[in-house]
Amino acid sequence: MTSKSQKVLVIDDDPSTVEIQAKLLSRAHFEVEECLDSSQALDKALICKPHYVFCDMMMPNIDGLEVCRQIKSHEELKDISFVMVSSKAYEYDKKQAYLAGADAYITKPFTEEKLNMTLKSLRSKITFWGIHGTLPVPGPQTTKYGGNTSCISVEFSKDRNFIFDAGSGIKPFSDYVMKKSAGKKFNSHIFITHPHWDHINAFPFFTPLFIQGNSIDVYGPKQFDKSMYRIMSDQMDGVYFPVTVQEFGAHVDYHDLGEGVHTIEGIKVETMMLTHPGNCLGYKVTYNGISFCYITDNELYFPDHDSYNDLFYRNLVEFSKGCDYFIHDTTYFDEEYEKKTHWGHSCISQVCLLAHEAEVKNYYLFHHDPDHNDEKIQQKLEVAQSELAKLKSKTKCHIAYEGLELYF
Ligand SMILES: [Zn+2]
Ligand SMILES: [Zn+2]
Repeated sequence: MTSKSQKVLVIDDDPSTVEIQAKLLSRAHFEVEECLDSSQALDKALICKPHYVFCDMMMPNIDGLEVCRQIKSHEELKDISFVMVSSKAYEYDKKQAYLAGADAYITKPFTEEKLNMTLKSLRSKITFWGIHGTLPVPGPQTTKYGGNTSCISVEFSKDRNFIFDAGSGIKPFSDYVMKKSAGKKFNSHIFITHPHWDHINAFPFFTPLFIQGNSIDVYGPKQFDKSMYRIMSDQMDGVYFPVTVQEFGAHVDYHDLGEGVHTIEGIKVETMMLTHPGNCLGYKVTYNGISFCYITDNELYFPDHDSYNDLFYRNLVEFSKGCDYFIHDTTYFDEEYEKKTHWGHSCISQVCLLAHEAEVKNYYLFHHDPDHNDEKIQQKLEVAQSELAKLKSKTKCHIAYEGLELYF
């Protein structure tokens, strides 16, 4: 699913080509803007802020390669997916387009099918691999939504891969990567919220770590004097796990991450410390006009509780403001939470209030209690939907399940 219709800027000096491409793109539900003069392309892109640019390579004044360089080197436009359109099918020309920064190359005339394939290869995708908290709960009671612990992946164009947490969900993700990469290099960035078991203990089952030539960066918050390297390597010290980090074949770098705004592989990643025992980071990623928040494990106290911190709550509302996909710890029903206050997790009503006040578009229930089976999770959705209805909220609530893919 996509959360909103996306915009394409078509740049070509031939009005009939622009017309044909605009027709195909409109049929694929894109909003289309047109530019017939390449010397105006940069200004036009700055005004209409498209998600994609389809640009002819051979044009008078400024050619497509130069337009591509101008757009890709502009801070506000660098995330745009740039498709070079040309009648030439030579490898040499393709290479020049990629060197200039193009994300795809398509030869004209092209069919609707070819257009759709090109667009699909450029889209980014969030996939849920584990949605439970605390402990994996496999079995007949969790076949619908899945029983693995926290892990989601985000695949961006140009083979940029982000992974959030390494709970048991990272094992099926690892199987998917091994099949997809089929012997090719696989580079990735793994963001750990905090080192509780359900967020790190399947790290050694991520097979790309053992493959020479791969490059993997691991990020997360330090725990007092324990660095991310110590945290990840101590759980694989030969006593708790038979294989040590020294046996990884990939090049693995570990980074201690604090609160702030980071740029990783050209993608904006913001972090915020959450309310949980020890240091736990929430993440917000913004790319190509879409943002998503991954916030687990996090305790939202009732406003009348002594531990309620209004400043933290307001900061969290601001951090999550308007995001398209909001994934938040919703471990408990309200009545369960009352018996488990100070355990570091949230209940439905308080997450609904936060999602509503932050005006998030889509809220995904996440990090379920190990005693919650498919039936309980379904009930949680119904309760959450009625809470949001009471608030007259525009936020939509969903169940995140293993295998759910969100395209953007
Ligand atoms: Zn957890
Ligand atoms: Zn935790």
